[in-house]
Amino acid sequence: MGIRNNIAYFNGELTPRGCTLIAVSKTQPIEKVQEAYDAGQRAFGENKVQELVSKYESTLPKDIEWHLIGHLQRNKVKYIAPFVHLIHSVDSVKLLEEINKQGAKCGRVIPCLAQIFIADEETKFGFDEQEFQLLMQSDEIRGFNNIRIEGLMGMATLTDDESKIRGEFRRLKLFFEQLKSGSLPPNVGMSQLSMGMSGDYKIAVEEGSTMVRIGTAIFGERNYRHED
Ligand SMILES: *Cc1c(COP(=O)(O)O)cnc(C)c1O
Repeated sequence: MGIRNNIAYFNGELTPRGCTLIAVSKTQPIEKVQEAYDAGQRAFGENKVQELVSKYESTLPKDIEWHLIGHLQRNKVKYIAPFVHLIHSVDSVKLLEEINKQGAKCGRVIPCLAQIFIADEETKFGFDEQEFQLLMQSDEIRGFNNIRIEGLMGMATLTDDESKIRGEFRRLKLFFEQLKSGSLPPNVGMSQLSMGMSGDYKIAVEEGSTMVRIGTAIFGERNYRHED
């Protein structure tokens, strides 16, 4: 197969369905990112700030759109604020506050997705639906002039039970549609729904995903040697 073929395959599957491919390049060397870039891929996802910054500062082309998809610590927002294309994993008001502050410092409106907790696992991050709905009604969110929430992100439970995965994605899509049809603050719009990874992207796309985050199915198995 190879990276080039994989990129072509996913774009063939996704583009007609109005879904965007985020190539998850975490732990992959820049040579492999370049290979995907040369195949036409521009949107790449990383889950660690340090790795995202070092790839951004590398010899890779400057028109790459860098997406932060993993849990983000507040004290690291400043490193990515000047250039990050979309933060998928905003999971608290305190984090939104910090992103807003750093956005103001570099004169940007930083695009974000709110991560919503949809899985069974206790280890997953995210707002719960009610919490997020309350935030949408608060004055606090309206004061954040340097962020824009463009939609939601969710990760399904890691399981072989397809009907469970489908149920979780369906529920998130329903919540997304509910928010979209309700009244939202001016700095919130529901246009992107980031759900689906290598193992469950087909279900996610069937359930209305607009962005899938795919790593191993493009680049092969990850090598975790360099992880901290
Ligand atoms: C690693 C990761 C992915 C991609 O996972 P694959 O199974 O390799 O496709 C997607 N989303 C998040 C948040 C990740 O950390």
